[in-house]
Amino acid sequence: STFQALGLSQALVETVTKMGFETPTPIQEKAIPVLLERNGRDMVALAQTGTGKTAAFGLPLIELLDQDVRTTQALVLAPTRELCLQITSDLENFSQNVKPLNIVAIYGGASIMEQIKKVKRGAHIVVATPGRLMDMMDRKAVNISSIRFVVLDEADEMLNMGFKEDIDTILADTPDTKNVWLFSATMPREVRAIASHYMTDPAEVTM
Ligand code: AMP
Repeated sequence: STFQALGLSQALVETVTKMGFETPTPIQEKAIPVLLERNGRDMVALAQTGTGKTAAFGLPLIELLDQDVRTTQALVLAPTRELCLQITSDLENFSQNVKPLNIVAIYGGASIMEQIKKVKRGAHIVVATPGRLMDMMDRKAVNISSIRFVVLDEADEMLNMGFKEDIDTILADTPDTKNVWLFSATMPREVRAIASHYMTDPAEVTM
């Protein structure tokens, strides 16, 4: 298949082509058309690192976000600072010549003040580790009450690291109307529980 056939806009197809992506990976082929559905759909995807999962959710996100809306529209949760930075950099590359979006990374071990400043300037997308995001929420430094999309990346890792309670608290602060896109390398009972608790009739995608 081609990126065009998956329903992505010409501008985005050109961008990924320039990045050296010639054909979609299996997870991209399956997830992108589902996530681009007009009425929005929840999704559970079984996908390991290195499979192209970041573009599988990143490209639809870029496509679906409205650059003119000032409130935060998408939240990506990831287990580590490294993954958080990688996702942020990928999303910046995808959006660069397509749509002017502010993408802000929020993670521990760096100045919270700097991160608060960036969020204050406007963040279409927040990419966060759960612990630091909780801290920012406690300080009322970030508002996720108008979120349209939540991506849970490496959900099994986040649960292994003890972020279950934080994830529950964070999701409780988002509107019921949001769509949740969950990616996980494994599907233990705990990950299934999150899916059944927070999703409605999710599309199930495996490679
Ligand atoms: P990820 O699984 O998202 O960490 O992606 C793994 C690597 O594959 C990254 O270096 C991506 O830039 C690259 N990649 C993702 N999708 C494609 C594609 N369709 N064609 C070629 N490389 C890709």
